[in-house]
Amino acid sequence: MTQQDQHDDRYSRTPSERDLDVLSRQLGRPVRDVVEIGARCACGNPLVATTAPRLSNGIPFPTTYYLTHPVVTAAVSRLEAEGVMTEMSARLAADPDLGARYRAAHEAYLTARAAVGERAGTGPVPEIDGVSAGGMPTRVKCLHVLVGHALAAGPGVNPLGDEAIGRIAEWWTPERCSCEGAWDTTGQAPHADLSRHTRTQGLGPEELEAKRAARRGAAGHAAPAGPTEET
Ligand SMILES: [Zn+2]
Repeated sequence: MTQQDQHDDRYSRTPSERDLDVLSRQLGRPVRDVVEIGARCACGNPLVATTAPRLSNGIPFPTTYYLTHPVVTAAVSRLEAEGVMTEMSARLAADPDLGARYRAAHEAYLTARAAVGERAGTGPVPEIDGVSAGGMPTRVKCLHVLVGHALAAGPGVNPLGDEAIGRIAEWWTPERCSCEGAWDTTGQAPHADLSRHTRTQGLGPEELEAKRAARRGAAGHAAPAGPTEET
C-alpha cells in the first residue's frame, strides 16, 4: 500500500474494517448497517457513523448521522442535562431567522439522506419522506442528532448543531484528538459486524459462503440492530 492509499483509507467516506472495529468499541456493541463514516476525528478515527435510510432488515431508519465518539456523546449529554434543548426550542419559536435556518438544516438533512440512500443502493424510503430527526424542523429533541449532522455536513448547515459544538468546546473540539483512553482498545471488539459496503468486497465464493454460514449461526443470538436514537 502506498502512503497515498493509506491516507485515503484513513479519511475516506467508505468505512474500513478498522473503522467498523473502532465503532463497535466506541459503542460497546456491534455496529450494523454503517455505510459511510460521516465525520472523523483529526486523527482519522470515526466520530459519526452514517446509516442508510433503510436497514438491511428492511426497517426505515431516519437517523442518518449517529454520533459515536464517547467523548463527544458524553459532552453533548452534559449540554442536554443542562436544559439546552428547552432553551433552543424556545428560541426557535421566538426567532424567525433562526427558525428559517433550522428549517433549511432539516431540508439539507433530507437531501443528504437521500444521497446516502442512493450511494448505498437502498433506494427511496417513502415511509420516512419529509421526516428528519432530532426534532427538526421546529423543535430540539436530541442534540446528539444535531451535532452528528453538523459534524457530517460541516459548519454553516445546522445552526443549532454548530452552536452545540461550540458549547462543548470545554470538553471537546474538532481540532483536537480526544481518542486516547476513550474506549477499550484491548481484546476483541464486540463482534464487529461488517457493513454492507465492505462485507463482500474482494471475497471469493468460498469466503462468501463461510461468511453467510457465520451470519446464519449468529442470527440466533440476535445482536442489537443498528444505531438507535439516543434520547
Ligand atoms: Zn482521535
